[in-house]
Amino acid sequence: MNDTPATEPDRADRLDRVRIVLNEPQNLVNIAGVVRAMKNMGLSRLHVVNPAEWDAWRITGIAHRCDDLVEEARHFTTLEDAVADCVLVVGTSARARTAHRNYGYAADWGERLIDRAGVGPVALVFGREDRGLSNEELDRCDGVAIIPTAESYSSLNLAQACLLLAYEIRRASTGVLPPLPRGKRSTAPASRDQLELMFRALEGGLERIDFFSARRAENVMRTFRTLFARADLDEQEAGLVKALGFEIQRHLERVASGQIHLPNPGDPSDASPDASSVPPADPPSEH
Ligand code: SAH
Repeated sequence: MNDTPATEPDRADRLDRVRIVLNEPQNLVNIAGVVRAMKNMGLSRLHVVNPAEWDAWRITGIAHRCDDLVEEARHFTTLEDAVADCVLVVGTSARARTAHRNYGYAADWGERLIDRAGVGPVALVFGREDRGLSNEELDRCDGVAIIPTAESYSSLNLAQACLLLAYEIRRASTGVLPPLPRGKRSTAPASRDQLELMFRALEGGLERIDFFSARRAENVMRTFRTLFARADLDEQEAGLVKALGFEIQRHLERVASGQIHLPNPGDPSDASPDASSVPPADPPSEH
């Protein structure tokens, strides 16, 4: 049963209700970096409080194809006004302050911002590059998000801090991550049958080179099973290992039938050439 009120937007649509507030940003390049980070993460509501400079043309010169976000950015003269209608306001800080506050890590606030965005607009507030958010500004926030960093150098660049937090917000909104890209040659996971064929071929090959003369076949094969299980082979990979086992067997059959001459270490005519004169082996053909 779905007991979500009809008016509550889908989690993914809640990104639309997350506002990034830049309080007195000093550097236009950082504003452009924030715009870009927002666009990358699907955020579109930018509220700016008293920027030291604002030049839409230069910002979009750095943050390409972000004109809509920059044009729709809203300007305020006080932080209070920029967040007045928000149902959750989260400040950000690189360092703990004297007063105790509702500190939380980026990932936790990402979840809470998206949860609360189901009810109304929410804001994430960033401070000035040179001195961060003041205590009075943090008083306007319900909590403070901290991105854990090296203790000796905790202050992130404004746009980079925004990117990391926006990433957490996006992650919270999409729930599951989208599937990773797959290589063109990627195949399905190997089936139990394919794996058993592979193990038989491998065991056969190892048997033929007397691998088990000093080791117990059962133990060796069990170790290989564990190892290959950890590698989570796909069909192509299992096929390659199977081919390895078969090729060992075929090679030895050809040697036995005299089709191939094996080098004899005692025979000077079989001596290996000087290593430096050996041409590099052909790379194995790709499968
Ligand atoms: N010198 C300032 C740092 C300002 S960095 C200070 O000590 O507070 C500019 C802004 O980036 C900060 O106000 C904050 O909004 C954000 N930021 C930087 N590092 C951060 C971190 N580790 N965690 C959360 N936000 C951070």
